[in-house]
Amino acid sequence: MPHPGAGTAAQGHPGHPGASRAGGHPGGHPGRSTDPRPVVGDFDFSQSPWLVIWETTRACDLACKHCRAEAIPDRNPGELTTVEAKRLLEDVRRFGRVLFVFTGGDALKRDDIYELTEYGAKLGLRMAMTPTVSPRVTPDTLRRLKEAGLARISVSIDGSTPAIHDAIRGVPGCWDWAIRIMREAREAGLSTQVNTTVSNWNLDDFDALYTLMTTLGIVFWEVFFLVPTGRARPEDVPTPEQWEGIFNRMYDLSKDAPFDIKATAAPQYRRVVVQRQVAERRAGQREDAPDELTAGLDFSLKDGVGRAKGVNDGDGFMFVSHTGDVYPSGFLPLAAGNIRTHDLVEVYRSSPLFLSLRDRSQLKGKCNVCEFRPICGGSRARAFGVTGDPLESEPYCAHIPLKYKKMVEKGEAEPVAEYFARRDRRLKNLPLAGG
Ligand code: SF4
Repeated sequence: MPHPGAGTAAQGHPGHPGASRAGGHPGGHPGRSTDPRPVVGDFDFSQSPWLVIWETTRACDLACKHCRAEAIPDRNPGELTTVEAKRLLEDVRRFGRVLFVFTGGDALKRDDIYELTEYGAKLGLRMAMTPTVSPRVTPDTLRRLKEAGLARISVSIDGSTPAIHDAIRGVPGCWDWAIRIMREAREAGLSTQVNTTVSNWNLDDFDALYTLMTTLGIVFWEVFFLVPTGRARPEDVPTPEQWEGIFNRMYDLSKDAPFDIKATAAPQYRRVVVQRQVAERRAGQREDAPDELTAGLDFSLKDGVGRAKGVNDGDGFMFVSHTGDVYPSGFLPLAAGNIRTHDLVEVYRSSPLFLSLRDRSQLKGKCNVCEFRPICGGSRARAFGVTGDPLESEPYCAHIPLKYKKMVEKGEAEPVAEYFARRDRRLKNLPLAGG
């Protein structure tokens, strides 16, 4: 279950209007709940996202340093109503048995969240939630969510100690609440997941964080790689080389971890996984063909949530804001329509923004000619966050494709050092979002 990620409506611009709500409803099967359980990769991403994330509200009592939503204390009167939220669930169900994630802000600030959970589960959606870690999450809350049909709950833990985590989250006691919620969620019968955002704040804490994860009984550890959007500052983002180190460490840990490990906002991790597996085969240490999915998939399947291959922004992934704007990802603040005025299914299938993001031949720079393009494609959100162009080359990937090297030699492409220098100059001049 990927993280809430989201672009802010304030940052976003209208983008393409997408299809009108009056448009057709292709592939619609609202109410059907008897489909077989989806298996890994059992979705055609040109027709259907693997998961849809809804930013239920922006209201939240925390003030995390890297909050992409720039959360506020009180609910916005313009948030989707209960009726609109139910229609959103019905529209998402037209795609199939999609994974639907409630995020925020704090989803529990909405009184109708239990009703909506039950509604989505009865439609046949796989329901999950990332509530804000706060005293609002009680054993009773967790029990009600479980009874309503929630399959999995995730919380954010960014540090192995209260000192590291609470400094990032901005509220003393937050780490203790997260650990408590993990335990109480398990006691309520919910499957659990932890989301961790890797940044310069916790880069050196990664191994200790992993050790903590092994004590929590989770099925999934989702490791996010910071996108400079919302409150996240460019100087908080580690270097591509530092990320490369974390990717390799993740791959090593994934072999024995008692849970599934996944990278989010860093599809280049899949490239590292395949590169490592190819090297292992050449060394006679692996028989199976390379596969971007690492060991641990069984843990993800236990609660029916599962995993998919090749998901990227707008390509198997869709984000709906608290006011109904439709984005390719929570970290990519370009709206392709709004569910109040456009047909959600048509926006995903036909809007120029989503179509261009799914057409990897449109990628620029080294991502365009990369041998790993089919399984990676780079983070479109980070490309946009850093360069302003969602189709630009991923600015935080250390890999230099063979074809690109040859193009540089022939003078047909910009040398990578110059590209990175240009990126750094641009990063330095980026306005501090939310500041
Ligand atoms: S160059 Fe682009 S496509 Fe290739 S591995 Fe890096 S991010 Fe992925």
